[in-house]
Amino acid sequence: MKALVIEGPKTAVIQEVPYPTPGEKEVTIRVKRCGICGTDFHIYQGEFLSPYPLIPGHEFSGVVEEVGPGVTQFTKGDRVAVDPSLFCGECEFCLTHRGNHCVNWGATGDTVNGALAEFVKVPAQNVFKLSNDLSFAAGAMIEPLACVVHGVNRLELKVGQSVLIFGAGSMGQLLTQALSRAGAGELVVVDVDQSKLDVALAHGATAGYLSQNIDQALSHRVGHAGFDVVIDVTGIPAVIETEFKYVAPTGTFMQFGVAPEKSSVSINPFDVYHKDLRIIGSMAINRTYGAAVNWINAGRFDIDSLISTVVSLEEIPALLEGGKASNVMKIQVSFD
Ligand SMILES: [Zn+2]
Ligand SMILES: [Zn+2]
Repeated sequence: MKALVIEGPKTAVIQEVPYPTPGEKEVTIRVKRCGICGTDFHIYQGEFLSPYPLIPGHEFSGVVEEVGPGVTQFTKGDRVAVDPSLFCGECEFCLTHRGNHCVNWGATGDTVNGALAEFVKVPAQNVFKLSNDLSFAAGAMIEPLACVVHGVNRLELKVGQSVLIFGAGSMGQLLTQALSRAGAGELVVVDVDQSKLDVALAHGATAGYLSQNIDQALSHRVGHAGFDVVIDVTGIPAVIETEFKYVAPTGTFMQFGVAPEKSSVSINPFDVYHKDLRIIGSMAINRTYGAAVNWINAGRFDIDSLISTVVSLEEIPALLEGGKASNVMKIQVSFD
């Protein structure tokens, strides 16, 4: 079968690789759609935890091709999407509902071969059936939404609180839609691209500002007039450093965007103390995939407006090399 293989940092090629035969309690999926994520760019750049060579791809949907021994809940042709999380189930973190910090943490497409290939093999317990009227494109957006569900759980947002989001790519958009449904009051979005702000404004944001204008537009929103919640979805250290000043006393700063593994920012510890701040992270998915399936199956999210680009597998090496353009939201690979 055909696959995209990242052989090492900055080396991505299309290759023929062996078909992944499902083992005990495993399912092989014929991939229909697979999203490209910021993490895939980090893997390509050598900035993530991944081993090489690796077939990336962790945001995907497809149909069941073959089931391994012991799998009774799926049959060939089932329309499905997959939680890529691979938790050992036995370590202290798994046993205390913190599987996303499993000491043996892995994920399909991050630490083992993923779905930028015609077929991918996954544990049957990670497979979720899609409702018949849900598109494969929407199915491939369940994984990023599951990360957003975890983030929303981490925030413990109170109804009516004000939120400021930096970065209106597909994750910023999903957070905007999720937080508007979860009870946010004011919901302000910042991005470098006006077309992304327009999408956010059409889906729950109450205001949107271009990054170059915020020093002026938000100059009055520091100190006590700041936001209850500030979320970074850019992962860009130089930007992150500028965001803390917008957190109101007793507010929460959440690092949602994935920054390069070895980056750092400086913060003012006096402010953290004096303003009673809470600084939290949000790491991937922690048994939140099912909630995301429910949220998407119920039709509460507009997904179509978030998929800006659909490409073929062959286009991915050049795309990884070129980096992500600022006006692009979700890129998906179609295998049709
Ligand atoms: Zn992702
Ligand atoms: Zn574990």
